[in-house]
Amino acid sequence: MNPIVELDQQYIAHTYARFPVQIVRGEGSEVYDETGKMYIDFGSGIAVNIFGVADKAWAAAVSDQLLKVQHTSNLYYTEPCVRLAQAVCERTGMKKVFFGNSGAEANECAIKAARRYSVLKYGEGRSTIITLKNSFHGRTLATLAATGQDGYHTDFGPFPGGFVYAAPEDLDSVKTLAKENKCCAVMIETIQGEGGVVSLSDRFVKGLRRFCDDNDLLLIVDEVQTGNGRTGALYSYMNYGIMPDIFTTAKGIGGGLPIGLAVLGEKCQDVLAAGSHGSTFGGNPVCCAGAFNIFSRLTDELLAEVQKKSQYLIETLSALPEVEKITGKGLMLGIACQKEGRAIAETALQKGLLVLTAKNKVRLLPALNIPWDVLQEGTDLLVRSIREACD
Ligand SMILES: *Cc1c(COP(=O)(O)O)cnc(C)c1O
Repeated sequence: MNPIVELDQQYIAHTYARFPVQIVRGEGSEVYDETGKMYIDFGSGIAVNIFGVADKAWAAAVSDQLLKVQHTSNLYYTEPCVRLAQAVCERTGMKKVFFGNSGAEANECAIKAARRYSVLKYGEGRSTIITLKNSFHGRTLATLAATGQDGYHTDFGPFPGGFVYAAPEDLDSVKTLAKENKCCAVMIETIQGEGGVVSLSDRFVKGLRRFCDDNDLLLIVDEVQTGNGRTGALYSYMNYGIMPDIFTTAKGIGGGLPIGLAVLGEKCQDVLAAGSHGSTFGGNPVCCAGAFNIFSRLTDELLAEVQKKSQYLIETLSALPEVEKITGKGLMLGIACQKEGRAIAETALQKGLLVLTAKNKVRLLPALNIPWDVLQEGTDLLVRSIREACD
């Protein structure tokens, strides 16, 4: 047996059902295990490696900063986090950024900002946040409480209170909860990633925006997985023609280093005053220098490419009789087949293709710049894997 697998099982807490492969290096959308076997990567480390593995331009930005200063604490000013925050605000029309180190932390900040907004304006008590059933917002206790799936809650209570769950696509259930509870915000993913790559409809999201406006509830969009070009738009809320009051992002924007952003709009831009929130590593210059490089390369041309590649995947896979349904948008796709996604993912692994699963679906989250020939080769492997596993 591979000694690293053995030692991992001995010394690492068993929280992950890992695939039986050790990845040692890679280039772009191709990664290699310790025996030299190559795999085409359709998962990009769960939507993290937007420009693939060991991307040269990103690595140069990171190592340049690494050799200047790697960390200062937030007691001093540094340039990379400022440049990144400026770029994000200028391209989205949002106003201010808080930096943390993960998606969960970005969501924690959004929750705190929404509650403080409400306290400053209306006084105590209006603190409940409506989230959606089948959502996923992170693994900290508060973001787990925000997560509308019982499976994640088992054995970890008590949880922080103040979260209630509405049914996706059912605006009336949101309205009822808002009436029964004193609420300050609604938090959504426009495509529920961990929940099985399930998109919210245009009608529901627009209706939600209107309802939040009418009742001064902040609309928080969790763009941790859907953000940064993943759906073919810079942020997925842009597909709906709405503006959130807060959006959060992480995963892809760091290019592989840990970073999370809570991005605040006009209404709540000033609610987090000095001392009200913080993070030792938040805004780390190395992570931010890398993220600035990544964010700067999310051009309109790249987004158009994402849409074309998405179309190619959808057209090719929907032609298979074994494929029942394709959900999601851009390069965030869920493929429901006659067999469980995990069985297909294991078959694909043997053939040299890495894919993910979400619920019972195969989930595809390839690098946004995956070269066409690699995309086609990987798609061929996926087609063969689906056929074989469903046989
Ligand atoms: C991954 C994810 C998170 C949690 O991000 P971490 O960086 O693991 O804390 C939160 N929300 C969504 C929608 C995610 O996909």
